[in-house]
Amino acid sequence: MAKLLKAIPAVKEITAGLKSRSGELIQRGITPTLGILRMGERADDLSYEKGAVKRCEQSGIQVRKIILPQDAPQETVLKEIEKLNNDREIHGVLIFRPLPAQIDDSAVCKALSPEKDVDGITSQSMAGIFSGTHVGFPPCTPEGCLELLRHYDIPLKGKNAVVLGRSLVVGKPLAMLLLEENATVTICHSRTEGLAEICRKADILIAAVGKREMVTKEFLSPGQVVIDVGIHVKEDGSLCGDVDFEAAQEIVEAVSPVPGGAGTITAAVLAKHTIEAAERLG
Ligand code: NAP
Repeated sequence: MAKLLKAIPAVKEITAGLKSRSGELIQRGITPTLGILRMGERADDLSYEKGAVKRCEQSGIQVRKIILPQDAPQETVLKEIEKLNNDREIHGVLIFRPLPAQIDDSAVCKALSPEKDVDGITSQSMAGIFSGTHVGFPPCTPEGCLELLRHYDIPLKGKNAVVLGRSLVVGKPLAMLLLEENATVTICHSRTEGLAEICRKADILIAAVGKREMVTKEFLSPGQVVIDVGIHVKEDGSLCGDVDFEAAQEIVEAVSPVPGGAGTITAAVLAKHTIEAAERLG
């Protein structure tokens, strides 16, 4: 049976560290604060927001929510971002995406101050990841995968890491973060030939394809560590990931569960970035 890479022990460790850092900031008169900008009431936004608020509160971070109607015009959204940028009491900003169709996503990303970009949506943050410099922040989900691997002392140096998925939110930044840890990284996507064979050869396999249980036993081999980033709701309302969890449990050395794995650690990373932003800005 594979070892389960559960997020909660890692989250507790991260949160404990953050609490003492936020305590130091508060002593200096700085209350670390996250601004959340949400449009409408999408169920997955609300669910992530709930987790993020809880994690922030546990870490000594205040949250200020800006909620706009789903049909608010672009001009209103940009004005709110400008206010958040100029507000010295706000250190980090989380903007829920995807945005409604009337909003130009790239204009929104461009409008946000890179110093407050705690979820890595600006081009400056992306450049920071690719150049290995600390401009902005990496998106929280890929960094969460790294935190999970770190917590469980999974060695990355010289290891063959395969990232399934090449989105700007998960796959590409994750590949860069793994590279920085000296893994040898392969990025796969929908046109990759011989996908199952490439995945089987991985020491570390990270699935971020957005296809329910696509990673079947043909993709897996003994000794592997598998991180499942996918989140899907099954017909019975339960959650599953991009990986066939039962097959993985039988074959690999360690696998992250869904729920309770990569998704759970993401909000803790958001809190970590907010504290770091407050430290940098303060
Ligand atoms: P995305 O933008 O849809 O990207 C999916 C990637 O997977 C694309 O690069 C796509 O390739 C590739 N792909 C799709 N079908 C494939 C196939 N049959 N074989 C090989 N590659 C395939 O998704 P995303 O935003 O990166 O999210 C991925 C998953 O992570 C989703 O399940 C999402 O719900 C989840 N997610 C979780 C969190 C969290 O906090 N845990 C956060 C964000 C996302 P092409 O580029 O060739 O199209």
